[in-house]
Amino acid sequence: MHTWSDIEQHVASCTCCPLSRTRHLPVMGRGSHSADIMLIAEAPGGQEDQEGLPFVGRSGKILDELLESCSLTREEIYITNILKCHPPGNRDPKDEEKAACFPYLKYETFLLKPRVIVCLGRVAAQRIISPDYKITRQHGTWTCRKDCALTAVYHPSAILRDPSKMEETKADFKEIVRKRDELLRGNPDK
Ligand code: SF4
Repeated sequence: MHTWSDIEQHVASCTCCPLSRTRHLPVMGRGSHSADIMLIAEAPGGQEDQEGLPFVGRSGKILDELLESCSLTREEIYITNILKCHPPGNRDPKDEEKAACFPYLKYETFLLKPRVIVCLGRVAAQRIISPDYKITRQHGTWTCRKDCALTAVYHPSAILRDPSKMEETKADFKEIVRKRDELLRGNPDK
């Protein structure tokens, strides 16, 4: 796989884990292929499975509100999931499913070369940042890896369940933009 279209074609016909038998549509990442900010969630939900697009439905509206609060649009970011197929009943992804699907995320990250990676929720943070990541305590904190800064915020579905998380997540998104701008000032060439 060397191009975005290679990844899309592989994902579209992938049967590397049992979720290929229960999914309706695989959900490839969407957004700008030159984005500086990459958002990574755990897996597509039920509506995403029906439409084949990430973050549609109620969680998507929350995400749009968060982006709007810091003057970002979906066209300037890239958003994807660790799993490209919906786990039945929205259960947590199994380790073997994450392992089977992870190469797609690695290729997306390799092609994009983001300045900032934002994990949406505990599952993504524990897979990408640290296995013992505590989203309640650590959201909004930063880790650096090579030329990339990593952080995590509450998943939009957690905000749907507990709207009191909205304001602190908006503050985290403002910091994400500030960090992106700081990194771009330090080294404007990707
Ligand atoms: S979840 Fe990933 S590895 Fe499993 S079938 Fe879907 S695309 Fe393939």
